[in-house]
Amino acid sequence: MPTYTPPLRDMQFVMHELLHVADEFKAMPRHADTDVDTINAVLEEGGRFASEVIAPLNTVGDTQGCTLDRTTHEVKTPDGFRQAYEQYVEGGWPALAADPEFGGQGLPIVINQALYEMLNAANQAWTMYPGLTHGAYECLRAHGTEQQKRQFLPKLTTGEWTGTMCLTEPHCGTDLGLLRTKAEPQADGTYKITGNKIFISAGEHDFVPNIVHLVLARLPDAPPGSKGISLFLVPKYRVNDDGSLGARNGIHCGGLEHKMGIHGNATCQMVLDGAVGTLVGAPNKGLQAMFVMMNAARLGVGMQSLGLTDVAYQNALAYAKDRIQARSLSGAKAKDKPADPILVHPDVRKMLLTAKAYAEGGRALTMYCALLLDREHHHPDEKVRKDSAELVALLTPIVKAFLTDNGHIATHACLQVFGGHGYIKEWGMEQFARDARINMIYEGTNTIQSLDLLGRKVLANNGATLKKFGRMIAQLVEEEGVNEKMAEFINPLAYLGDQMTKFTTEIGFKAFQNADEVGAAAVDYLRVAGHLVFGYFWARMAQVALREIAAGNTDPFYKAKLQTARFYFARLFPETASLMRTARTGVKVLMDTDEALA
Ligand SMILES: Cc1cc2nc3c(=O)[nH]c(=O)nc-3n(C[C@H](O)[C@H](O)[C@H](O)COP(=O)(O)OP(=O)(O)OC[C@H]3O[C@@H](n4cnc5c(N)ncnc54)[C@H](O)[C@@H]3O)c2cc1C
Repeated sequence: MPTYTPPLRDMQFVMHELLHVADEFKAMPRHADTDVDTINAVLEEGGRFASEVIAPLNTVGDTQGCTLDRTTHEVKTPDGFRQAYEQYVEGGWPALAADPEFGGQGLPIVINQALYEMLNAANQAWTMYPGLTHGAYECLRAHGTEQQKRQFLPKLTTGEWTGTMCLTEPHCGTDLGLLRTKAEPQADGTYKITGNKIFISAGEHDFVPNIVHLVLARLPDAPPGSKGISLFLVPKYRVNDDGSLGARNGIHCGGLEHKMGIHGNATCQMVLDGAVGTLVGAPNKGLQAMFVMMNAARLGVGMQSLGLTDVAYQNALAYAKDRIQARSLSGAKAKDKPADPILVHPDVRKMLLTAKAYAEGGRALTMYCALLLDREHHHPDEKVRKDSAELVALLTPIVKAFLTDNGHIATHACLQVFGGHGYIKEWGMEQFARDARINMIYEGTNTIQSLDLLGRKVLANNGATLKKFGRMIAQLVEEEGVNEKMAEFINPLAYLGDQMTKFTTEIGFKAFQNADEVGAAAVDYLRVAGHLVFGYFWARMAQVALREIAAGNTDPFYKAKLQTARFYFARLFPETASLMRTARTGVKVLMDTDEALA
């Protein structure tokens, strides 16, 4: 069975030595008292909960899956899942970063993010139940009426109730403009909602007495397409004015999907049969309201793959040290044994370092994004809030798609380290690979993330936000451009920074002639942008490590960081050259193919 050790040392490195989050918090009145010791204590406790309570349930969840009672429509989750959730609620974990106005502890998002990385590494399927609640909480906090906030936010904050997002229907996933679920206005100001939703994560389960569904539907007079979608709050049980549970509402689970991974999470077909709901936000503006939830979820999905990348790496490394097979090409290393540990083979190291570099790069990027969110919400300077919001919007599709693509690559590489044993269930590696696969699909497929990045976030504002990130790179280049020890990191980063401007302009020009050029280039473009961002963080991590080593710090952590940075720039980053080359071949080679695809 796989094991999981919370990566506390690396989290502390990113938070305190790279991003200096506690200093940043001093400028934010809400978080001014959140110091290094508080952060470390919460991380340690969260890590213990993830590794001791949640991780042991990962294999159980995969083996048992969820079951639906077709008479009562109730779903039973795998053994131990509900009890673990009760402990999670008792420990106050759901409320960690929630607003004190609704009973939250008001701690920074950075800390919550670190907790979620660990929970996802321990058990993605379990973590999705509380994970979706966070999105519902954010959406209602931003767009709910006073009554909705009063009735639902305190319960979502404490985790006594959980939330879902009900968007997808059988005939529409990416294109929500096609959705058909109907909402009929009632005399009392509520709506009766009728339709079928599919693939709803945590749509039904046995953790809590009430589930708060956020449902997209159409009003009778709604314009067609995505401009005619409204958002409704539909609880499993209606809620009385005094907060007690009322009648069972007309929404139930009609079936569970049998799927490739995340078996412990109930993926539900939800039937709405005149369910009573209340409007969230303005009529026909449901997609905008839902975007608050979707953006939170997109960063959350990136965190899922980050967690899986790390746990897969940890187990593959332990295996590679233990498994003996063949001798090193450069002569026996473990002379007391009949063969060397497979860790001596260069290609095994390449697989392990790939996962390590993607995990540590991903950790730096996601913590930075969480810090941007903390700044966006709580920094006193309006310009800082605005800049942070723009930057996090630019980075969100990169976190979602680049980290989940990397998670796919890394979990498969780690499975490969196990050879045939990786393919066998008992070692747990094939579960990581299966669980990671969905992350590239839901919350908008990675193709859709790429179109969002290139089309909406870059070309639509002439690359203005990308240029802001470019200025961060330029500043680092200016600081370290003459430092010979940094040249191996700074030179390729500076070169890609220059190339990126030309590359973007070229696609922009081609898109004037033919809009399909954006679709032809977008996926490669996002991966190049992902490396640009990772390259920046890896260069900065190398900078910190070099400084520590130069100051006489002998902690092997810094040498390890430097070695991983070198590997990243030598073996992973150069992928950008071939990606730019393939993207530049343009649309013709894809679209002039009617005979090939006949
Ligand atoms: C396990 C699981 C859990 C899920 N959880 C939820 C949930 O909680 N709530 C919820 O509402 N939904 C959920 N989903 C649904 C998920 O978000 C959708 O599956 C996803 O958005 C893709 O939609 P689709 O499956 O209909 O694929 P389609 O939209 O049919 O797409 C098919 C293919 O076409 C491509 N494509 C489509 N449009 C374009 C375009 N414009 N340009 C380029 N390529 C395009 C897609 O990238 C994809 O490769 C879940 C799905 C799964 C499998």
